[in-house]
Amino acid sequence: MKRRVKYIIDLKFVDQLPKQEREELKEVTEKFAFRTNDYYNSLINWDDPDDPIRKIVIPTREELEVWGKLDASNESKYTKVHGLEHKYPDTALLLVTDVCGIYCRFCFRKRLFMNDNDEVARDVSEGLEYIRNHREINNVLLTGGDPLILATNKLEKILTALAEIPHVRIVRIGSKMTAVNPFRISEDKALLDLFEWFNTKTGKRLYLMNHFNHPRELTKEAKEAVELVHGTGTVQTNQTPILKGINDDAEVIKELIEELSFMGVPPYYLFQCRPTAGNKAYSTKIEETIDIVERARARVSGLAARVRYVMSHETGKIEVLGKTENLIFFRYHRAADPENCGKFMVFRRNPEAHWFDDYTDLVEEYRVETEEEFV
Ligand code: SF4
Repeated sequence: MKRRVKYIIDLKFVDQLPKQEREELKEVTEKFAFRTNDYYNSLINWDDPDDPIRKIVIPTREELEVWGKLDASNESKYTKVHGLEHKYPDTALLLVTDVCGIYCRFCFRKRLFMNDNDEVARDVSEGLEYIRNHREINNVLLTGGDPLILATNKLEKILTALAEIPHVRIVRIGSKMTAVNPFRISEDKALLDLFEWFNTKTGKRLYLMNHFNHPRELTKEAKEAVELVHGTGTVQTNQTPILKGINDDAEVIKELIEELSFMGVPPYYLFQCRPTAGNKAYSTKIEETIDIVERARARVSGLAARVRYVMSHETGKIEVLGKTENLIFFRYHRAADPENCGKFMVFRRNPEAHWFDDYTDLVEEYRVETEEEFV
């Protein structure tokens, strides 16, 4: 018997929540889509209203607070053809689905799950043609939504087409499936065979970019799925935002990145939660988050400590390097404008900042103009 999950797309079927709470949250799920499954629900301690896994998937009325933008990193600016984003010369993103194993309440792409959104291309031929015509693209990220929600034969068509493009050397799959439905991987030999074929027969490399937010997601089942993916020669990493009430704790981040490194899944990025509409409840203050990240990194091996704390800003990936009593330091890790590549930036501190713009919007007040100010 194959192990499968049962998807739940209406709060009224979440029996663990009192009826009154389900009714109070209806307004939230009418605005921002809801989706969970019985496996993920089983990880929740329903007696604890502050349970971190619960906060990842169960809505809160705080999401109704007006804050942020639906497309906080202005991804539409980099959309070149339907379903394809091209921001950095060597990397293209193919948005292949608008469905996930669960809908994380803090998702920065929650706009994709809204009825009137049409950014995802079910037919990726236009995106593939764009990649074929841009020889500078050597790696492609399949994203969405969660690409592993697609049927294996659909994924096979996409991977086969990408394998035939000589200048594409790496394909990445951004997925939370190992955390939310590990059986999607462990029970599908055809998927594992596909991964292995890509790694051994095409001269290219597949990466699985996992999305574990909390150590409690690292279950026996999740570890089994990760191990099977390792067996296919796929390289794995992990990326997670730092999220208020979920993992904004040095001990939690330490445990997460350390355990991931033991699993052979190097932590890649810790993201600042984007100022996406509905996300105020999950966003942390940058200058407090630096302390969380540094305290966690100080207690793990260099392998786990390689993780970078970054903001996926409209202009590029900005690494938050550190702070002194008065100053904060950033550096472009990736930049849309080649002029900004590697650019080091110093601003006066703003303890209330949640995003890079909270420094640059107040440029008069926060920019450090002279080198003397470092002294
Ligand atoms: S798995 Fe990723 S894309 Fe899907 S809801 Fe969660 S954060 Fe968003």
